[in-house]
Amino acid sequence: MIEASTILKGNDLKVETQYLVLLDELLELCRQNLRTVDEEFIRKAFRLSYWAHRNDRRASGELYIAHPLAVARIYVEQIGFDDVGVAAALLHDVVEDTEISLEFISETFDDKLAQIIDGLTKMSGAFESRDITKAENVRKLMLSMASDIRVIFVKFADRLHNMQTLGSLPPHKQFRIASETLNLFAPLAHRFGFHSLKNQLEDLCLAYIHPDEYHEITTGLRNTQRDREQYIAGFIDPLRERLSEDGFTFDIYGRSKNLYSIYRKMTRQDKPLQEIYDIFAIRIVLEGDGSKGKEDCWRVYSIITDLFKPIPERFRDFISVPKSNGYQSLHTTVFGPEGRRVEIQIRTQEMHEIAEKGVAAHWKYKEQVNSDDKEMDELLTWVRDLLEDPESENATEFVRDFRLNLYDEEIYIFTPRGDLFTLPTGATPVDFAYLVHTQVGFHCIGAKVNGKMVPLSYRLKSGDQVEIITSKKQTPNPDWIKFVVTQKARSRIRHWINQKRREAQTHGREVWEKRASRANISLTDSELAKIATRLKFPNMEQLFYEIGSGLFDVNDLIKSAKASQREEEEARHDEDSLRLQYETFLDSAQSSGKPALLIDGELHTDIATDYATCCNPIPGDSVFGFLSRSGMIKIHRVSCRNAPNLILNRADRIISVDWSRQKDVQFVAALRVMGEDRVGILSDLTQVVSKNLKTNIRSITISTDDGVFEGNLVLFVSDLDHLRRLIDRIKRIEGIHGVYRFEEQGDDS
Ligand code: MN
Repeated sequence: MIEASTILKGNDLKVETQYLVLLDELLELCRQNLRTVDEEFIRKAFRLSYWAHRNDRRASGELYIAHPLAVARIYVEQIGFDDVGVAAALLHDVVEDTEISLEFISETFDDKLAQIIDGLTKMSGAFESRDITKAENVRKLMLSMASDIRVIFVKFADRLHNMQTLGSLPPHKQFRIASETLNLFAPLAHRFGFHSLKNQLEDLCLAYIHPDEYHEITTGLRNTQRDREQYIAGFIDPLRERLSEDGFTFDIYGRSKNLYSIYRKMTRQDKPLQEIYDIFAIRIVLEGDGSKGKEDCWRVYSIITDLFKPIPERFRDFISVPKSNGYQSLHTTVFGPEGRRVEIQIRTQEMHEIAEKGVAAHWKYKEQVNSDDKEMDELLTWVRDLLEDPESENATEFVRDFRLNLYDEEIYIFTPRGDLFTLPTGATPVDFAYLVHTQVGFHCIGAKVNGKMVPLSYRLKSGDQVEIITSKKQTPNPDWIKFVVTQKARSRIRHWINQKRREAQTHGREVWEKRASRANISLTDSELAKIATRLKFPNMEQLFYEIGSGLFDVNDLIKSAKASQREEEEARHDEDSLRLQYETFLDSAQSSGKPALLIDGELHTDIATDYATCCNPIPGDSVFGFLSRSGMIKIHRVSCRNAPNLILNRADRIISVDWSRQKDVQFVAALRVMGEDRVGILSDLTQVVSKNLKTNIRSITISTDDGVFEGNLVLFVSDLDHLRRLIDRIKRIEGIHGVYRFEEQGDDS
């Protein structure tokens, strides 16, 4: 690169005179068309390009430098954006075709220029070598790769020159390049408002794609040219005179429409050339800009319609409502001499430049801006608005689907065959694999990006060529969920994980059922769920899943199940006997309808009692019992008149009896108890109440719901102290969270 460095100074480089002439012409055009020109910058770029391409020749045989020079000239004349773009045009092929590196360019020039050339190099590498059928995709790819809008501008100029010199290439290449240009570059140029460049591209394409029609139209136009020129002159002359009289400064001329649009009219209307009436248009370009210019356009329009009868439905006002690419003009069609229809376009000089040069010209008329970066930012914003404007005339899918990647939302990825796929930024080979096909994703085991192996979590970049390696044995890895970004990949992987889970669960349940029946265990699902909880599983499904996938030993479950079955049985037994006891007691206490009696200080529910009719004792009286011959105990008042006789003569039959309410004042108290529903809780409760505190239970009702236990206890207690001790004790039972006294006996007691 030492040699290149000296070349840049210019002393040792011999340049053929014809190219020096071309360079001078280029610089002159720069001075005319650009706002600022760093001539040395451009000269330096020329010298490097000349030297780098010194051994290369074009297909036509001339020195290669002729091409970059021509591209730079097109850029200045037709796009005219800035001098960095001119230098980029001069150097656009050096990194791709010669030994010059990007680093060298950024060192000897600057990073910005290097960045543009990098974009140009990548872009041609990304798709020019491939056969891509969908122009839409390439358009997206181009824009996604163009971090700097000048990459696309230079690309347009490059393409136009390639089309102009297409004759040197073999026919099959001509056709391929021409159709790519027609489907890709021409619509894109139109979108950016490069009207005249778009027309040139289309006309050149027509020549290579439909040579017969091209020939028919060009000869047809040539044959009628004199006639047409005479007619136009006859139309223009009086108009020019009139406009001059009214003090306008203007340019007026007639021009044929571009060949491709005539061709389209012929095919669309299915008419020969002779029958297409709007082959040409008259154009009036007025001096003066701003609102004065606008007013002038309308005044000229009114003068024209004084002279010629207009066709109202052909009138278009693109001044008040410009096209999305910035185009402004008034269009009208009038009846000229001989009754021929004549289209007239009225516009100011500024509107004209925007119509021809689009974005770049629009920029020229913008107010002064400070920095280069800010200028670029504003342009990019403008371009984005332009491309995203939903109101634009053919803002069909192109604009809607289209995102200038200035925001890096999407990347464009190639298959090894050259098919293009769109993915969100951050996508990985796994996302790509699933996008290509679910089965590819399913069996994907590795990936090559641009020929090199990468991890499956690798973040892809626009233009990457990705090859997915699959294996029939491979299945999705649950870890993939952590790095995939597309909905499709995520949902497919999740679906697979869930499916595997369900399979493991089903298997786990089968294993359990087989073992359980062998061990003679039979549990309901809710019993199983309780065991799962006790074994610290979140639910039964997880338990089966872990058994099914070998994470948990089914024998441990069998053991737990046996233990819990035993406990259940014991608890059930306890509770059954307790219940029986209380029910018997309740029956006896209530069915007789009499107050309970204490006989020899104890409750005897199995002894029949009756009240003596001689003294009719009532509760509260001091009483004694007399055992009759039939075995029944008769209750007498102590003050009964027969009492002395009975006590003295039949002392062996006298039994000490007391009102149980009297000796041990019993009143009914109801408690509400709440806690966890666990095995044996009811027996613990009754145990505490009846055995420890010797309290009689009148009734117990319990309900359990979703693991929560709730019980109502109706008890006989002697006094408040007794009740408090009882509550205290119940609270200490494991699993009981709350004990409350009912103030009144509810309906449920
Ligand atoms: Mn080129």
